[in-house]
Amino acid sequence: MIKKYTRIGNVALVVTVVSLGIVMYVSANKLISEDARLPLIAVYVISLWTMFWAYARAKGRSGALGIALPFLNLIGLVILLCLKDLSNLPPDWACEKCKGKNLASDSTCRYCSAPQPS
Ligand SMILES: [Zn+2]
Repeated sequence: MIKKYTRIGNVALVVTVVSLGIVMYVSANKLISEDARLPLIAVYVISLWTMFWAYARAKGRSGALGIALPFLNLIGLVILLCLKDLSNLPPDWACEKCKGKNLASDSTCRYCSAPQPS
């Protein structure tokens, strides 16, 4: 996990839970009008998306994935939690001979079989 994004995700998680709690509390007790609830709901939605985005980035994934997953609600959350953490993998490498792009797990070039430079 990438620390910077994990920290952003944790802050967004707290904001999400607190804002959801406030929205549910004021709704249940009819403390404010429906229109007055909208900014609170906006804070909840924005922090929820920020949380998904940050946790996806923390796992070395595309931020777009974090933007798409909240549409799946709880299923999206489960997918996010189950995603493999790619942040610790070594980066891909480019072949010196043919400039072909190879995966970190390839020991020789996929295109010209030249060995991976050390
Ligand atoms: Zn090559």
